[in-house]
Amino acid sequence: MSAPERAGELAANLTALRARIDAAARAAGRAPGDVTLVAVSKTFPATDVAHLLDLGVTDFGENRDQEAASKAAQISRLAPGHLVRWHFVGQIQRNKARSVASYADVVHSVDRVELADALGRAAARTGRRLDALVQVNLDELDGRGPDAAGEARGGVRPRNVVALAEHVAATTGLRLAGVMALGPLGGDPGAAFARLAVLAEGVRGVAADAVAISAGMSADLETAIGHGATYVRVGAALFGDRALMSDHVR
Ligand SMILES: *Cc1c(COP(=O)(O)O)cnc(C)c1O
Repeated sequence: MSAPERAGELAANLTALRARIDAAARAAGRAPGDVTLVAVSKTFPATDVAHLLDLGVTDFGENRDQEAASKAAQISRLAPGHLVRWHFVGQIQRNKARSVASYADVVHSVDRVELADALGRAAARTGRRLDALVQVNLDELDGRGPDAAGEARGGVRPRNVVALAEHVAATTGLRLAGVMALGPLGGDPGAAFARLAVLAEGVRGVAADAVAISAGMSADLETAIGHGATYVRVGAALFGDRALMSDHVR
């Protein structure tokens, strides 16, 4: 596909996606501007990010450090002068914290004290301050128990959310920004996102400006917006099917 064809495809996908977000916000009695689209560009090339920057998207999400670091560097060359905010949405091993803290503006996946400490130290060392969201594991809602899905999904148990939020709020180099969750593997995303909204209220009790709720992906963003999501993290509905990219990238 030529660059103009790909730009046209992304523009059409973005228009349809924005319409979904706006309709869901209105249906929930919320202003569409309250919901920020995080374009999850994992597996897709920096040229796609550059097209979306031209279309006015400012927030991009990645879930692997190496890919994210390289894409962020490419974008600063390809699109200098554009405002870009990089969101890290995947699990982070502690030895990657320093790298993530060098390019990420928002980390959605803070789920343990050691990781908060490592990110805070790394950010503070370079004079940065990262927005940190406490990732909650909602899988126990479908009776799987928080560990059943394996470590790959991450997240702290609901009952430990406030304690971790207090730790993040007290960590130099981090700003407690809110909460994040993945929809449940099975079961009802509505029940999960309703639970997340209650947990978000608890986190606002720790810091009144920690208002972010990161919830909703391509398949369930309407449900998440109905329960107060302020960030939706969307990959497939914007970029297309990742499976088609897998030969090139993974
Ligand atoms: C890949 C990913 C997304 C985007 O998922 P889609 O179904 O492609 O919209 C959102 N959040 C996280 C944490 C992801 O890893």
